Amino acid sequence: MDKQTGFMKALKCRECGREYPLAATHVCEFDFGPLEVAYDYDRIKASMTRSAIQSRSKNMWRYRELLPVAGEPTVGCEVGFTPLIKADRLAKRLGIRELWIKNDAVNYPTLSFKDRVVSVALSRAKELGFTTVACASTGNLANSVAANAASAGLKAYVFIPSDLELGKVLNSLVYGANVVGIKGHYDEVNRLCAEIAGKYNWAFVNVNMRPYYAEGSKSMGFEIIEQLGWKIPQHTIVPMASGSLLTKIHKSYQEMTKLGLVSDAEYSVHGAQPAGCSPISVAQKAGLDFFKPVKPNTIAKSLAIGTPADGFYALKVMKETGGAADDVTDDEIRDGIKLLAECEGIFTETAGGVTVGVAKKLIASGKIPANDSAVLCITGNGLKTLDALVGHVGHTREIRPSLREFEALIEAETKSPTAA
Ligand SMILES: *Cc1c(COP(=O)(O)O)cnc(C)c1O
Ligand SMILES: [Zn+2]
Repeated sequence: MDKQTGFMKALKCRECGREYPLAATHVCEFDFGPLEVAYDYDRIKASMTRSAIQSRSKNMWRYRELLPVAGEPTVGCEVGFTPLIKADRLAKRLGIRELWIKNDAVNYPTLSFKDRVVSVALSRAKELGFTTVACASTGNLANSVAANAASAGLKAYVFIPSDLELGKVLNSLVYGANVVGIKGHYDEVNRLCAEIAGKYNWAFVNVNMRPYYAEGSKSMGFEIIEQLGWKIPQHTIVPMASGSLLTKIHKSYQEMTKLGLVSDAEYSVHGAQPAGCSPISVAQKAGLDFFKPVKPNTIAKSLAIGTPADGFYALKVMKETGGAADDVTDDEIRDGIKLLAECEGIFTETAGGVTVGVAKKLIASGKIPANDSAVLCITGNGLKTLDALVGHVGHTREIRPSLREFEALIEAETKSPTAA
């Protein structure tokens, strides 16, 4: 393996195909197209067999040939290989034959799928000699950059919209990161970060490091295939903020097929957005190839990106795979959170409520046929977005520590079971 590049060949423009060195850069100088990592698939094929993968530790780095670091990973070495749960009770409620939950609500260390992208971005940032890392975040990315930077001894600056949930803010501050709250939407945070990245020599995980960072999302798809017994699911439902995760799930299925690790199969990738920030799903439903930017207003703050960087490519993936998109209201998001919790004992954040709610709609409309099998990507943990549920999940019934009062409570409940 080449010590400088590993299994990577170059950065390549998605639009014109021009190649660039494997540095901290993310746009083509000619057409401003996004740069993507290109790999040496012949060498990967020789090294990455099913039995080689299965002999490795149970984390995302068991697919290391397809992840963009030159040497061994140094940050986030335990991230990934989260549970894939067969969700029979939820399947019944949603009216589908077979349903699986890919549960990144319990990803390590910060309870969201962002640990995947950050472990790649920070490992690569260290290889490129950076000592300060940064990000523009809707919350979970900030948490993961803060935590992983702390454990790697890197300095961290995280930039967030100032109106984020308390859980997300505290989960960044506790690691000692420099947390900067911007009075504005994520798009404004992101624009400022692009300016800062041009001036300071920092590794911005989702700006100048974006080509490497985004590749980390593929690991979620690799794991789904392996955990299904080396099969591509017929339907995968993915929440969309920038749209990057959705495009990378598709790429992961394609790469595993190309490498002969899984047999060629038809599949659809579907996208989920909150109605209060749905530029991609609105365009998909109208049959358009381009989205119109929006101003977000939703409880699903982790998905509140009004100008999604990969929206165009997400629309393309859905078109190519026969996937659909839809969006759900704040109330439907809360219903989705409760449904997953009550059926499967999994507490997801608002983004997960979006995914469950949209799955319900797509199954009800027949866009996902009732006789098929589907995987829901649950990407974050409900303990971080408690604010969204306050006043919406019932209340505790308080009594004094007296058996008589308890018995009175039970009796009242038996008489009117809905009183709770
Ligand atoms: C960031 C995020 C997403 C979506 O990410 P994109 O790749 O930008 O579409 C989904 N779910 C959660 C919980 C997130 O934090
Ligand atoms: Zn180009």
